[in-house]
Amino acid sequence: MPERDLSALYRDIESREADLVALTRDLIRFPTINPPGDAYLACAEFIGNRLRARNFEVEYVRALGSPGDSDAYPRWNLVARRAGSRPGPCVHFNSHIDVVQTGAGWSLDPFAGLVRDGKVYGRGACDMKGGLAASIVAIEALIDSGADLPGALELSGTVDEESGGFGGVHYLAERGWFSPPRVDHVIIPEPLNVDRVCIGHRGVWWAEIVTHGRIAHGSMPFLGDCAVRHMHAVIERFERDLYPRLAARRTAMPVVPVGARQSTLNINSIHGGHAELADGFPAACVPDSCRMIIDRRLLIEESLAGVKSEMRALLEQLVLEREGFRYDLRDLFEVAPTLTDARGPVASATAAAIAGVLGREAQFVCSPGTYDQKHIDRIGKLKDCIAYGPGILDLAHQPDEYVRIEDMVNSAKVMATAAWDLLGAGPSSASGRDHGRDHGRGPHYGA
Ligand SMILES: [Zn+2]
Repeated sequence: MPERDLSALYRDIESREADLVALTRDLIRFPTINPPGDAYLACAEFIGNRLRARNFEVEYVRALGSPGDSDAYPRWNLVARRAGSRPGPCVHFNSHIDVVQTGAGWSLDPFAGLVRDGKVYGRGACDMKGGLAASIVAIEALIDSGADLPGALELSGTVDEESGGFGGVHYLAERGWFSPPRVDHVIIPEPLNVDRVCIGHRGVWWAEIVTHGRIAHGSMPFLGDCAVRHMHAVIERFERDLYPRLAARRTAMPVVPVGARQSTLNINSIHGGHAELADGFPAACVPDSCRMIIDRRLLIEESLAGVKSEMRALLEQLVLEREGFRYDLRDLFEVAPTLTDARGPVASATAAAIAGVLGREAQFVCSPGTYDQKHIDRIGKLKDCIAYGPGILDLAHQPDEYVRIEDMVNSAKVMATAAWDLLGAGPSSASGRDHGRDHGRGPHYGA
């Protein structure tokens, strides 16, 4: 196979910096706020029109009947595919086009795409229109280089990631858009930073615990049974037994921040007793129910079944020990943890590209919360998926969100190199060295 000239590719991507900035600004100007899910089709069509110019076949898929889908706010997704010179693997870049509410505290227009001090500002600049723009420019540069590209390149702009992905990647994955043999490798340009490869995320279990009591007059609480006191007993067990146990449970997952390398439990909310009267005056009653919502984050070393039975055992123990203790436990939402092999094709190709572009070792990380990788893994049954993109995760969802232009350019180089590599191109000649890696094409996944 001929040597690849990565230096020429990098120079070409550098020459596209103004185009990359303009594209990012254009994407930010679509106010794709979710909820409710504004401007989805306009944004998707903008991307589709651009890719058509590079001979992509563009399809728009509406997630009919998904949560939030309506004629006023249709859930439109874009999938673009460009077949290569001959059969081969498919490399797919998936970005969500929705952004969260702007919230208070902005010192500039969130949808103007202001450029200042080497940064592009705006809602979604970091999460994740900067990453989307970088992946588009990476693909265009790779195509324009005239390189022989077997297989296929795909790019999707999907919606509703910020509300669970049901009208986006979840919907598409259920219909085969994210499964082999159509797709082999996926890069999600979420803002994990320019030198980090995100290989997975912790799992989540949301549940409701209700304790029951017996109503009575507030002046004679001994005639009733207080559901709030029963809930207090639950929290006391959390403090005494569960929290120390969770804190001691460490994971081999390289989660960032480091504080999230353990099991965690958040008490989201608690409501007990009868509502006050309209004028704020309390009802003189013993509470007969108390409701708590919990958010349990789990590690790859844990199972959802194990996490649930641990909670149930704690509650059953109270049934045995505490007079009158009755409860209900109900599942609200769950996602199993996801972890792909850091030595798998997409992770190792991206890490090698980071080392080549930035001259430093890539860091492998996991996300404390979930993103669309869960749907690609669980529904699409596609393991070879990572998140990699410019932007600093801490800035996501914040006021005055921004992405650094230099990081976008560098990540575009990384994405183009990794894609080229995964499509099965020849050895690299960038800076005259090969990265000496072997990513055997057969799957060899760990966890
Ligand atoms: Zn995101």
